[in-house]
Amino acid sequence: MSELRHDALSGRTVLVAPGRAARPHTAPLPTASDARRDDCAFCPGNEHETPPEVARVGPGAPDTPGWRVRVVPNKYPLTGGAVPGAHEVVVLSPAHDVDLAALDTEQARAAMRALRDRAAFHLDAGLAHVSAFVNHGRLAGASLEHPHAQLVALALTPPAVLAEAERFRVEGCDLVAVSLDEAHAHGLVVAAHGPGRAPAWCPWAAATPYETLVAHLDAGDDFARATDAELDPVTNSIADVLRRVARALGPVPYNVVFHSTPGGHWYARITVRTFVHAGFEMEAGILVNTVPGEDAAARLCDPS
Ligand SMILES: [Zn+2]
Repeated sequence: MSELRHDALSGRTVLVAPGRAARPHTAPLPTASDARRDDCAFCPGNEHETPPEVARVGPGAPDTPGWRVRVVPNKYPLTGGAVPGAHEVVVLSPAHDVDLAALDTEQARAAMRALRDRAAFHLDAGLAHVSAFVNHGRLAGASLEHPHAQLVALALTPPAVLAEAERFRVEGCDLVAVSLDEAHAHGLVVAAHGPGRAPAWCPWAAATPYETLVAHLDAGDDFARATDAELDPVTNSIADVLRRVARALGPVPYNVVFHSTPGGHWYARITVRTFVHAGFEMEAGILVNTVPGEDAAARLCDPS
């Protein structure tokens, strides 16, 4: 049975149409390897193929191997000219094939801390807003295979962020907490709050199959200003969710987007890119989701 649901946090209206999706298969976790690639600009030894690095975690001189996390300007930036700002790439680790789901805990934390630190750097330098995200896989928008995060720092606050800030203001409550409460009420919690873990849940009005949110309960409104104590549990839970997704669906493309909203509550949204939005969605502005949040949560909690 189809059903319309509204998501107060994102402002989206979703048509849940579960009959349209076939049940996904169960896949083994992809195996990670440490192999480097001669033709990859992000692999160690090829540092000269990127613009000079702006930050690194780990020993060694700039633009030489030895790093654990490396930050470089994007070679093809979205910013520049009449659009002031910065566009940078955070190489998550030296390993060519190891994505956020497969990184060891310490490495994942170091990579996400580096992303946050660069976001803070650009805010401190006077820019207004930083978009921070991971695109993994070509269908998720990644043009290079080697796992990396990106940030786009702008002198303006983007329209979608202003609109979300307005929803927080109008509702007068923490819409992230509302989304989590709703998830609790409907049994959509994928990973509960616990030591070293931030809660992860499928929103009741998930707009896409397996969409999952992760947030620290006490977080402020800006990812760039997160403390390690807030960020590390979120990183752990993001990696946990991505492993659950990989077990349930196999190696799928995904986006992890950190949402920072003035006056709001920063959180991460994981979008699994197995869907196509087509004519109806483009005309109606109603998103069709074939895997309701309750089915997605059940599947991620028990992928066998
Ligand atoms: Zn590589």
